[in-house]
Amino acid sequence: MEEKIHQKKRVTCKKCLMPFEERFINKHGECVICDEHRKKWLNRDYAEKEKELKHIFEHYKQRNKDHKYDSIIAFSGGKDSVYALYLVAIKYGMRPLVVTADHGMMTPWARASIKKTTDLFGVDHLLVTRDQEELKSIYRAYFQKTKNFCEVCYLTIHSALGQAALDHDVPLIITGFAYKVDSSHFRSAQRYCFEDSFVNIVKDSIPAEIYQKYITKQARAENQFHLLHLFDYVNHVDKEIYHVLENELNWDSLGQKDKHNDCKFHHMLGYLRTVSNDTTSLALMTPAALLRDGQITVEQFHERLAKEKVLFKDVDRELLEEFLEFFGVDEEFLKAKLCSLKLAEPLVKESDINALIQSKRRAGADELGLIELLLDSIRPELKRDGGDVRILSFRDRLLQIEILGACRACTIADQVMMRYLEHLIRSYISEDIILENVKPLVPFSQK
Ligand SMILES: [Zn+2]
Repeated sequence: MEEKIHQKKRVTCKKCLMPFEERFINKHGECVICDEHRKKWLNRDYAEKEKELKHIFEHYKQRNKDHKYDSIIAFSGGKDSVYALYLVAIKYGMRPLVVTADHGMMTPWARASIKKTTDLFGVDHLLVTRDQEELKSIYRAYFQKTKNFCEVCYLTIHSALGQAALDHDVPLIITGFAYKVDSSHFRSAQRYCFEDSFVNIVKDSIPAEIYQKYITKQARAENQFHLLHLFDYVNHVDKEIYHVLENELNWDSLGQKDKHNDCKFHHMLGYLRTVSNDTTSLALMTPAALLRDGQITVEQFHERLAKEKVLFKDVDRELLEEFLEFFGVDEEFLKAKLCSLKLAEPLVKESDINALIQSKRRAGADELGLIELLLDSIRPELKRDGGDVRILSFRDRLLQIEILGACRACTIADQVMMRYLEHLIRSYISEDIILENVKPLVPFSQK
C-alpha cells in the first residue's frame, strides 16, 4: 500500500523499526538516524560534558553578575522544558529569564503549565506575542505552498528568543530540545539555509517588513547570542525526567502524560501524516527514538505504537474545521500531494568534489588534507548562507569541527549543515569518520 503511494521501496530499520527509503539504510540494516545515534550519543561521557556545562554557566554568571538575568531559557510548558528549567534554575543555580513565544498555536494546557511551573520556581516569565493576524497570514502562505507549518512555529520561537536576548543583554539562550530522542528533524543530506528557504516560500505573498521580523541571521552572524542545547550536556532519560517531575516537583503533567500538548494542531499534523502514509509518521517517532536509545523494549514499542496509531487515525470535525479556517484551505487541499520544495541551486556539484578528492588521493594526499580540500570546495556555498566551518581536531576517526558565522547559533544547523558535511565526508573520504560539532566553552568575547 505504502509502496504504491510513494513508488519507492521502504525498508524497516532493524534497530528502531522505522521504515525508510532504501538509500537511508546501511549495510547492517540500520537507518541513518540509528547510525548517527550510536556514534554520537551511546558513548557520550556525560560526566565530562557536565564539567563543560558548569564552565559555560560560570562564564555567563560572571558576565552578567550585575544583571537581573544571566541566561534566557526557552519554555513551552512541556515536560522537557520543565525539566530543563529545573536543572538550570535549581540544580545549576542560574538566574534565567523564562521566555515563551506565542506561536499562535498555544493550548490552554500549555498556558496552565507555564503558570504553574514559573510560580513553583519563582522565576520571571516573558510571553512574546506577535501580531496574531500577521502571523496567521505567514502560516497560511507557508502551509498553502508546503502543507507544513512547523517551520513557521520554530522561526517564531527562535526569533522571540533572539529578541529577548538582545533586549535584556543576555547572550546565552538555553533550550530543552533533545536531539538524542527526537528524529522529527530528520532531513536528507541536502544543504540549505532554513531561513532562506522560509523567505523563498513566503516572499511572494507576504510583505518583507512582516516576514523579516522572524529572521535572526544578521544577529547570529554578529555573534550577538549563543545557543546551548542543555541535553547535549545532560543525559535525557524519560524515566529520570518523570521521576524528578513527579517526586521532587510534584508536577503531574496536568493529566496529559506522554502527549505533545503545546500545539493545538499537533493532532492534525499526526492525522495528516497518518492518512498520507508519511514515513516520518508522528505515531512512530517517539517510540522509535526511545527504542533506539534503549529506553523501552520492542514490546513496549509496539504497545505504544498501537496506542499512537489509534490516536492519529481520526480527527474530530470541530478541530478539522478550525484547522481549515486557520490555514484558509479546504479538505480537497489536504488530500492533494505535497509538492517538493525548491532549494537554492548548489554552487558545486558533488561529482566535481568527488573527482577532485580522488585525484588528490591518487597524488598521495593524507586524509586530513582531503577533508580540508573537501571543506574548501563547499566553503563558497556555506558562505553564501552566511556560515562557515573550521576543523578543530582529527583523532581516532573523530573529526571535531566548529560551525561559524550565522550558522553557529542556528537551531537546525546540526540537522541540515552537519548532516550534509557528514554525507560528503563519509561518501567521498571514509565511511567510518565521525563528525562532531563542537561548540567552544566560552563562545565569544565579551562586548
Ligand atoms: Zn533506525
